[in-house]
Amino acid sequence: MDTKTYVFGHTNPDTDSIASAISMANLQTKIGKYAESFRLGDLNKETKYALKTFDMEEPDFLSKLEDHSNVIMVDNNEFSQTVEGIENAHIQMVVDHHRLNLRTSEPVHCIAEPVGCASTILYKLYKQEEVSITPKIAGMMLSAIISDTLMFRSPTCTEQDKKTAEKLSKIAGIDLYQYGYKLLEAGTNISDYTPDQIICIDSKDFQHEDLKITISQINSSNLDDVFKIKKDLETAIEKRIQKENIDLFIFVVTDILEANSKVIVLGNRVDIFERAFHLQLIGNTTILKGVISRKKQILPAILEGIKQKIQI
Ligand code: MG
Ligand code: MG
Ligand code: MG
Repeated sequence: MDTKTYVFGHTNPDTDSIASAISMANLQTKIGKYAESFRLGDLNKETKYALKTFDMEEPDFLSKLEDHSNVIMVDNNEFSQTVEGIENAHIQMVVDHHRLNLRTSEPVHCIAEPVGCASTILYKLYKQEEVSITPKIAGMMLSAIISDTLMFRSPTCTEQDKKTAEKLSKIAGIDLYQYGYKLLEAGTNISDYTPDQIICIDSKDFQHEDLKITISQINSSNLDDVFKIKKDLETAIEKRIQKENIDLFIFVVTDILEANSKVIVLGNRVDIFERAFHLQLIGNTTILKGVISRKKQILPAILEGIKQKIQI
């Protein structure tokens, strides 16, 4: 048997990072390769709910890669959001639906598509390889699509994501919408987290030239519930900023019912955020109507905001 291939998504894993790692490792195994899925951090409640529903095991935690390990990256291609040791790994393949920010020393099999979820791409790979999808795997992939597209309402969602989710729900044998809202709701429970844990649940770092930008996002079905601890969240964010030398920290609370977001923005470069969205923050906060996607609405606007400054 060939050496093991490590399959994993991003740090602060979300449901897609776990589901696409599990389904990719399973696909590799089915076609005769030796692959195993891993998680790069603690799982959030939404992902735990999905694993429990479909009676699946949590992937093992991976803290560091040995040199020359074989790797398949799913749901991520940014080194700032992956495991230690990636620079000396052999990246066999990347399956992703984020902006490309990958630089490698050797050629890579890269499958990147602007769809709403990496699991949507994985579904096509199963079809290509003519490998059947088990109900459990289908349930996980379906959960990932619901999560990433916020039940098809994100601007990242394509017709392909929707159709794939419908097919997967039939394989999994569950009612898509009924299950979907339960899944999203499960992810909104932050009652037993500390403020620092809350701002880290789904936090992503972006390095742009000499700027360090962190965009952290949580889902909520009651914004007031989150904002009643605004002061504590701000203190936790300030501490992170100091500790990790962050220039701009954007904490996004997305209302899963209204599909809007309310943000807390801190750091010495809040001017970038204000320019990006043509507004002024009041008390470090504002509401972004219709904004729910970090990758398609927030990050591109921020990068544009940085560029505008350079042009002045
Ligand atoms: Mg993800
Ligand atoms: Mg994803
Ligand atoms: Mg996400």
